[in-house]
Amino acid sequence: MDENWDCIVVGAGAAGLSAALVLGRARRRTLVLDTGQQSNRAAHGIGGMLGQDGRPADAFYADGRRELAAYPAVEVRDLEVVGADGFTLTLADGTRQTGTTILLATGMSYRYPDLPGAAERWGRSVFHCPFCHGWEVRDRPLCVLDDSGIHRALLLTAWSDDVTLLSTTVSDEDRARLDAAGVTIDDRPVASLRGPGDELEAVVFADGSERECGGLLVAVSLHQRSALAEQLGATYAEPSPLTAEGLAVGGPNATNVPGLFVAGDATGQMPSVANVIASGAMAASAIVGRLTGAM
Ligand SMILES: Cc1cc2nc3c(=O)[nH]c(=O)nc-3n(C[C@H](O)[C@H](O)[C@H](O)COP(=O)(O)OP(=O)(O)OC[C@H]3O[C@@H](n4cnc5c(N)ncnc54)[C@H](O)[C@@H]3O)c2cc1C
Repeated sequence: MDENWDCIVVGAGAAGLSAALVLGRARRRTLVLDTGQQSNRAAHGIGGMLGQDGRPADAFYADGRRELAAYPAVEVRDLEVVGADGFTLTLADGTRQTGTTILLATGMSYRYPDLPGAAERWGRSVFHCPFCHGWEVRDRPLCVLDDSGIHRALLLTAWSDDVTLLSTTVSDEDRARLDAAGVTIDDRPVASLRGPGDELEAVVFADGSERECGGLLVAVSLHQRSALAEQLGATYAEPSPLTAEGLAVGGPNATNVPGLFVAGDATGQMPSVANVIASGAMAASAIVGRLTGAM
């Protein structure tokens, strides 16, 4: 059945759930659509979030959905949005849903190095964020795989005295800074990773030699998961070293398209569960403002 909503929230990660909670409490008819691919599902738990520290992501999202159930204006459906014609969205079941406003809380695709052994360790012993995962690998020999990773190598010294930057392109000036901080530089080309299960014991170089390593910090680049934002007419912000395809945000979480809002990782903000919860709540209050004519 084709329906109309005050707001359609695409994505039920931390940003989308947070927004839907605020919208539901403001009695706005809200449809939340989700395909269950929240980016931190691979991780051991949510690191560094007050009140939820170390909690498995699945349990956190299930709690978020339970809280929404108290608000009759909100409906959550496990369905993909496959296309958009203006603010009428086509869902994977063939129905069309129209929103007076749309909130994109679709998260991002994190692209990490295509290295044998990385995928099975992603979000555990291979990670992109020291604040999320550093504690779990503290005091082990740690490596940073990033040709422009001097800042990340220096940062990682907060979690270990044994940090190695795997890079072929370190300038003399950077080498001096790394030396002063006790960071080793290794320019051998990395071929693969070794260790049992999702654990890491060593990086393996192209010549077969190894370096002991209990945690590998890698460079990532964040991209939109689909062409949905483009179909809706949203434009991208200037790429940053981290986010290649963040959406341009003007005003509180508003895009360049009136009535189209964005929250969470898709904005290109620093990715963290705490940040995206705040972003979802901000977006929802801006949406309620628009729907009521207050803003
Ligand atoms: C491996 C890893 C570990 C992390 N660990 C931590 C940590 O320990 N602590 C921390 O603070 N942060 C961590 N982060 C960062 C944090 O997880 C993200 O910043 C946050 O989850 C992003 O939330 P979001 O709601 O914007 O997007 P997501 O959580 O990615 O949710 C977006 C949702 O939208 C859905 N979706 C997308 N497109 C569509 C569509 N077309 N139709 C329907 N649904 C759609 C997806 O399926 C997904 O469920 C980690 C990130 C990664 C990648």
